[in-house]
Amino acid sequence: MLRFAPSPTGDMHIGDLRVAIFNYIVSKQRNEDLIVRIEDIDKEKNIEGKDEEILALLSLFGIEYTQVIYQSENVRYHSAMALQLIHEKKAFSCFCSPEWLEKKREESKENKKAYRYDDACRNLPDELVIDNMNSFTIRINRPDETLLIKDLIKGDVSFEPDAVDSFIIMRQDKTPTYNFACAVDDMLSDISLVIRDEDHMSNTPKQALIRTSLGYDKKIEYAHLPIILNDSGKKMSKRDDASSVKWLLEEGFLPAAIANYLILIGNKPPKEIFTMNEAIEWFDLDKISKSPVRFDIDMLRHVNKEHLQNLDAKELSRYVGFADKDIGELARIYLEEAGTTKELKSKIVPIFADKEIPEEFAGAAKTMAQTIKNAPYFDEYDDFKKYVMNESGLKGKNFFKPLRLLLTGVQHGPDIADIYKYLKNYIGEIVK
Ligand code: GLU
Repeated sequence: MLRFAPSPTGDMHIGDLRVAIFNYIVSKQRNEDLIVRIEDIDKEKNIEGKDEEILALLSLFGIEYTQVIYQSENVRYHSAMALQLIHEKKAFSCFCSPEWLEKKREESKENKKAYRYDDACRNLPDELVIDNMNSFTIRINRPDETLLIKDLIKGDVSFEPDAVDSFIIMRQDKTPTYNFACAVDDMLSDISLVIRDEDHMSNTPKQALIRTSLGYDKKIEYAHLPIILNDSGKKMSKRDDASSVKWLLEEGFLPAAIANYLILIGNKPPKEIFTMNEAIEWFDLDKISKSPVRFDIDMLRHVNKEHLQNLDAKELSRYVGFADKDIGELARIYLEEAGTTKELKSKIVPIFADKEIPEEFAGAAKTMAQTIKNAPYFDEYDDFKKYVMNESGLKGKNFFKPLRLLLTGVQHGPDIADIYKYLKNYIGEIVK
């Protein structure tokens, strides 16, 4: 069983989407189920409706899953398992106040040492624990030996007991910490492989320790994906518009192209343009680069253009607000100068809109519009041109400029001869 475990705390980040896509592909390859676990135990950070938004995006990208679990519904298991660890003396109650711990943290900082909990409460006698009326957290005992994590992308990574620390698994308010909830839930769902962001690498030994302490022997495989960098070489964050999947969609990038691009970067695929179903045939986690990958919107634009080119004419026309083959073919011509559906639309919409004619050509355009309105239907552009030229008496610049303006709404663009065949059935709607 694989899982995608988003937190409903903001817009879906492209890094999250990449994690979801990789999980989906590998679940298909291994013939295992994929579940979605909404990690909603941090009530203060949750944003209402984000869970639904995430699920809708997964559907839009064709990522199928068998079940959705809300982590908050597992809290009773988290508490029961924390209690088990206390009984078995694998965890302990810690009465150190947040202020005291902060002071210790500051001291470590001043001494330029990494802060570690000093295990002050680890061996408190039971009667002192029972009689203590203060709030407490629950900490798990630090491991006795080095923990080795096998990562399908990073290779073997070892963690010293000190780096893992006796960390908190239940907060004072009796809610589980992220690591505890995540480790328990992965165990409850019988997860076999965790694919997630590199950010979580340091959490992995903690989660492994939790499961071992609970007596869970099954080894979960891990694959931590390298981070995605922005143009300035920094980790892509909320400040980068392109980090938001919603923004990319609004900009007119197709889901299939975004998925293609996210599989392409930091990878060695056999070809550049492909569908997710094709990727299932050859995708290999082992081939994913260990180093961070740079997000390149121009490359995404190129991939998007290729996907738009591959659509059939009717489908393409839908993206610009029509359901007509001719408009699809017209849009295909405009793909020369557009890379997204938003840009394409900005080329097609003015063709059908009321035209603004610059003063210089206003008179000629008026005459020409009248001529066109009275013209019969012409199958060939040359015949149409000849007729309008003869009837209007316009020539040269005074003919071609107003013609382009009347037919396309703008002064520059593809050859009218090329687009006429797709416009000829709409002349009445275009020249009003
Ligand atoms: N909820 C975590 C996140 O969105 C993911 C945790 C995980 O995959 O283990 O970063």
